[in-house]
Amino acid sequence: MNCILCEGPATLFFIEPRNQYQYLHCQTCDLRFLHPRFRLTSKEEHSRYLLHKNDINDLEYQKFVSPLYKVVLDRCSSDSIGLDYGCGAAPVVSHLLTQQGYSILHYDPFFKPDIGVLEKKYRFILAVEVVEHFYDPGRELLKLSHLLDPEGALGIMTLLYNPTDSFESWYYKNDPTHVCFYSELTFQWIVSKFGFSSCTFYGPRTLWLSR
Ligand SMILES: [Zn+2]
Ligand SMILES: [Zn+2]
Repeated sequence: MNCILCEGPATLFFIEPRNQYQYLHCQTCDLRFLHPRFRLTSKEEHSRYLLHKNDINDLEYQKFVSPLYKVVLDRCSSDSIGLDYGCGAAPVVSHLLTQQGYSILHYDPFFKPDIGVLEKKYRFILAVEVVEHFYDPGRELLKLSHLLDPEGALGIMTLLYNPTDSFESWYYKNDPTHVCFYSELTFQWIVSKFGFSSCTFYGPRTLWLSR
């Protein structure tokens, strides 16, 4: 089948022994993704998200998002307006940024389906543990790039796949709501195709795409 990010040819590269789920790899953009036939239904997906701990004051989760929080403090002035895309039920990073004076709007297809916020332009968009859930990453990333102002940036948290690591023992793929897996190469491809000028990585799960 064709790649769900770049539409290039994608080939089967792994079958999970536990459940026979098939994973495909694209040589063009280096995306790895679950074959669409093994995806959860939207209802199943929603009920999985309801099992997540949803508390904006959860200190563990505050620590988890701190790399991205620090990048925003560093790179965006506190009078800039951001969008927390796929914020879930407990938008922790935007809660922390709001305390620092930032204005942040929220969108989530399950928990905050306010499509009006998708008609504005933003200095920054944050997607925390979101992009690995995209069923149509090409379309979603195009949409997000259009929501940025000319100086805008997209801050992402997702665990990057390092192609030298074993996919079989990589825990991140075992969450049934995780359907696409990006490497550093994938984000370099995204930079060139969606009008960004650079991508900076802050450790294995935080990155910043600048226009
Ligand atoms: Zn691809
Ligand atoms: Zn996730």
